[in-house]
Amino acid sequence: MNRIKKILGVLLILCTILTTGFTNLNNNPKTVYRVYLKGKSLGLIESKVELENYIDKKQAEIKEKYKVKKVYAPTDLDIVKEITYYNKVSSVKTIYNKIKDISPFTIGGYQITIKGVEKKSNNGKTIKTDNQTIYVIKKETFTNAIDSMVKAFIKEEDYNAFANGTQKEIEDTGTIIEKIYIDNKITIKKTNIPVNKTIYMDKEDLSKYLLFGTTEPQKTYEVRDGDTIEDVAFNNKISTEEFLIANPTITSANAMLYTGQKVTLGILKPQVSLIEEDHVVKDEEQNYTTKTEEDPNQYTNWSEVKQHGVKGLNRVTQKVQKVNGETLSVVGVSKEVLKEPVEEIVVKGTKPMGDGWYSGGYGVPLPSKGMFGWPATCSTISSPFGWRWGQLHDGTDIAGCGYGSNIFAAESGVVTQSGYKYDNGQFITVRHDNGYYTMYAHLCNGCRYVNVGDRVQRGQVIGGMGQTGFATGVHLHFGVWTGPPYMGGTALNALIFY
Ligand SMILES: [Zn+2]
Repeated sequence: MNRIKKILGVLLILCTILTTGFTNLNNNPKTVYRVYLKGKSLGLIESKVELENYIDKKQAEIKEKYKVKKVYAPTDLDIVKEITYYNKVSSVKTIYNKIKDISPFTIGGYQITIKGVEKKSNNGKTIKTDNQTIYVIKKETFTNAIDSMVKAFIKEEDYNAFANGTQKEIEDTGTIIEKIYIDNKITIKKTNIPVNKTIYMDKEDLSKYLLFGTTEPQKTYEVRDGDTIEDVAFNNKISTEEFLIANPTITSANAMLYTGQKVTLGILKPQVSLIEEDHVVKDEEQNYTTKTEEDPNQYTNWSEVKQHGVKGLNRVTQKVQKVNGETLSVVGVSKEVLKEPVEEIVVKGTKPMGDGWYSGGYGVPLPSKGMFGWPATCSTISSPFGWRWGQLHDGTDIAGCGYGSNIFAAESGVVTQSGYKYDNGQFITVRHDNGYYTMYAHLCNGCRYVNVGDRVQRGQVIGGMGQTGFATGVHLHFGVWTGPPYMGGTALNALIFY
């Protein structure tokens, strides 16, 4: 029995082999290629190379536009080798037409990924760059565009001296660039770029994009009689620096404009954060403080200077960090007193004027020098009043005096605000006898020394410098207003008073 079973088994196996064998004889297995697009099969072709060559041949237009020699399949196209007995293969033309309707073809190039960074600037504005993907055919298009961008923010001669290690040593005063770098993480990868992406061919276009976040034409303005660069910039809500970057042929803020001249009004929206770190030694004036003495025998509208104040002079060393030309922080490293300031002593009457006397009144007197005393112990302006990046910076930022350094009331008056706000941080507002208001923001915690309703004298210490609220470095945001700040007043450039 066993023997018979074995023989039957062998016969069965033989039969199976023979039957299958007969089918195979009619149709030899062959190597073909299955074409997948986005994971979906489009059919079989005989030759991968044939399809690649067909794609390449049909793309004269793309080659012409991007000046490339070869065009490739879409990135989501997969061609997989198969051994099959099935003999229906498609022509490369059929497959090509299917692909063409679904996915863009690609060309060889580079994908540049820029990781966004976010920083709070000294003036409380957020300096933010978004995640970016940029495509170029040649790496140099990107490196050259970055180079142009660097030159928009750093003077070429300064940059070259930094790069070549030929910066002049500081003897008395001066600036040395210590570092220049891009804060964003940038990766460059060789890749096939789909032709429906924005592909930069020209470094001018790319550097324009890196600076303004767009390659669309910027708004223009036709110069009118008597316009200065400063006026045109301010009236169009941009800074003078932005104006000069948008108009590279105009080389200085003092350049003359002519009537009818077309200028570009670009609002900067830098796509990378270029950081410059400077070591600065400079002499700066120190404003004197003012002490008020009282004379009960004189009326309240009487005052007399008993001792004239004299400004002091300090040689200060600072570390300054800038992002895309905007000062991010100023840190005072050391201070050498070259000349001590002399305090001013003013005697004021305290005898009441009686009924019918009216102080202040509607409006404010015209700005004049000397109307206000300086509010800080140092005088570096880290961010001036004015427009930048589409926002009005409504005060003057003073930095480098050090954490906790004295903040002085710019003029006599009454404290109308003393508190904390998320953006201003610890801040104080004073309504002055002359009708103006001044505001002191980003004071240190515990550094508001006066309360609402307190009467303060010019030069009185009312606070300490800090960095509360939207502030990166220690600085004072000093605002001068024609009325209550953010409640009817208009912000003025404080520097017109000094
Ligand atoms: Zn500010």
